[in-house]
Amino acid sequence: MNSLFKDQVPLMRPWLGEEEIEAVAEVMRSGWISQGPKVIEFEEMVADFVGAKYAVATNACTSSMHLALRTSGIKRGDDVIVPDFTCMATANAIHHTGATPIFAEIDRDTYNITAETLEAAITENTRAVMAVHQIGLPIDMDPLMDVANKHGIKVIEDAATAFGAEYKGKRLGGLGRPSCFSFHPRKMITTAEGGMITTDDEGMVKEAKALRATGASISDLERHKAKGVLVQEYHDFGYNYRMTDMQAAIGIVQMARADEIIQARADQAAYYDAAFASVPEVVPPYVPSNMKHAYSSYKIRLDNGGAVDRDTVLRRMAERGISCRTAIQPLHWEPYYQKDWAGVSFPITEELAKTTMFLPIFPGMTQAEQDRVIESLVASLKQ
Ligand SMILES: *Cc1c(COP(=O)(O)O)cnc(C)c1O
Repeated sequence: MNSLFKDQVPLMRPWLGEEEIEAVAEVMRSGWISQGPKVIEFEEMVADFVGAKYAVATNACTSSMHLALRTSGIKRGDDVIVPDFTCMATANAIHHTGATPIFAEIDRDTYNITAETLEAAITENTRAVMAVHQIGLPIDMDPLMDVANKHGIKVIEDAATAFGAEYKGKRLGGLGRPSCFSFHPRKMITTAEGGMITTDDEGMVKEAKALRATGASISDLERHKAKGVLVQEYHDFGYNYRMTDMQAAIGIVQMARADEIIQARADQAAYYDAAFASVPEVVPPYVPSNMKHAYSSYKIRLDNGGAVDRDTVLRRMAERGISCRTAIQPLHWEPYYQKDWAGVSFPITEELAKTTMFLPIFPGMTQAEQDRVIESLVASLKQ
């Protein structure tokens, strides 16, 4: 199975077993492979797990975010704030509505936007903010909500990487606002590709379920159950953002192991944290005491005054058979934004883009593999 990564510590390995394979095979044999009963079951499991009333599955987190924005009334001419320090997918969801992303600076320790950096980014046309819980660590939501409420801004949570993370003892996705998760293999649990909106807003659920399936008033499954007597109507134009039952079947198995997966990653992070406590050049992830981090990735910052730069460390790690990654590039550096954002600077985001990197972390990673990563990193930092 791992022949692709022989003698190599990969950045991640999807944690899939015979149970997932059997679950997909069962769906294939059932005669209903597209969106159907398995998707409904998976939605209910995720809503229960995060503590939300409802969940709407989609084919990716990007489409979940697009639907969350659109069902929040975001449209052309609006501005939506998004951290500069995030992946293009978050900004893409804003573009899909016709609105304009407005970038915000982050906090140096948490890598997240704060009440202050949000307030500093607000424009006359700001209608919403994509609250990205970056790399699995929750934003300090209470002060952020105070600012959002003061300015009448809607908050949509991008919890793509943060499934299982907690803020003040509550799981993200269950804080009462629309929250979006990703089930890409780089995230906490996987369906290969997939996304989910969790929300307590019944109206949003109804609208999002129609929009994900071409805008039709009834689903294929409802029509099937009614033996063809129901006819769908279109009250709006929509998309094809449907998750398949084959993907949901994988998700259902993964959900049964969600606690185990989350714990495995937390234990691996704790093992790295302990090892790096005696390596002053390596700053491990910071976790405020009222939060629980979901370690979809383990991100370090190099604090060595540039003695050996991050790209050199990455190259040396690769030479030792350890796959790492540069962390996140500032969005305003991307060619697409260069014209509109020329001359704008986000010093913290820019510094972190140059000094941070991801180390391998995934359920099933062995302690011997972690030791190899730690030893290789310490060696790679030597001048
Ligand atoms: C991965 C990721 C996304 C995109 O998720 P997809 O399921 O690939 O659409 C969005 N936001 C953040 C912060 C992510 O890490």
